[in-house]
Amino acid sequence: MPLKVWIDGKFYDKADAKISVYDHGLLYGDGVFEGIRVYSGRIFKVEEHLTRLFDSAKTIRLAIPYSREELRAAMTETIKLNNFADCYIRLVVTRGVGYLGLNPAKCPRPSAFVITDTIEMYPREMYDNGMAVITASVIRNHPNAISPRVKSLNYLNNILARLEAADAGVSEAIMLNHEGNVAECSADNIFIARHGTVLTPTITDGILEGITRDVIIDLCTRLNIPCVEKTLQRHDLYIADECFLTGSAAEVAPITKIDGRIIGPGTPGPITKKLQEAFHRYTREG
Ligand code: PMP
Repeated sequence: MPLKVWIDGKFYDKADAKISVYDHGLLYGDGVFEGIRVYSGRIFKVEEHLTRLFDSAKTIRLAIPYSREELRAAMTETIKLNNFADCYIRLVVTRGVGYLGLNPAKCPRPSAFVITDTIEMYPREMYDNGMAVITASVIRNHPNAISPRVKSLNYLNNILARLEAADAGVSEAIMLNHEGNVAECSADNIFIARHGTVLTPTITDGILEGITRDVIIDLCTRLNIPCVEKTLQRHDLYIADECFLTGSAAEVAPITKIDGRIIGPGTPGPITKKLQEAFHRYTREG
């Protein structure tokens, strides 16, 4: 049976799940979204994702025409209809159909859709052995442009960073902020460990406030691993004992080489492995 996609209250087969070429989500990247995992039939951190979606929408002055309950129900129904126990959800709200100018006032009704599908961010081997990354020349958004805290439909900076990674023959790129400090990866947050302490950039360092990031910070507390949110420079990354990235799609993935520098012994470190295991347990058991 073809996958079903929810668009504004109706289900469509994947091949027929289409939005208008006049939708400002497409014409201008005018919209917001969430990427969410489902583990054993449960939507992981659904309330946190809905809060971030509504927060992002508020900043871009997009009035989502559905309540949290309606969006939660749309996701639950879509998962059920597609018979998924484990999957990835893409929840998107666009400004809706308008005219060819920018003016969002000409878009009378925002649109929402829910896609459920499988996703694999990096090959399995990278989760076991670690991955090489580079720092990109293209930076994260300046906070006075569209804030990096808004999960908007415009990922062009991040896509350019990924292209730089591909040029360098690696799978991921670290992005700096407008001050040259470390922000995050193209679609994931970044952590390092040094001398037994876990460190990650602060919210004001130009990052998306990742929901997986929050879980990892909590798990550090539970596991008695010191964890500090701190501004980091590239030098901090190079001299780290361990490094890993986190995200809903990527989960917890070890980084073992940055800009040609081997991190620690060049294999995933003990803290990374402990957090990877704890995260997987948490996604199933809470
Ligand atoms: N940073 C960026 C830029 C992202 O797009 C994402 C989500 N893929 C993340 C970090 C991680 O956030 P989360 O853990 O909520 O998926």
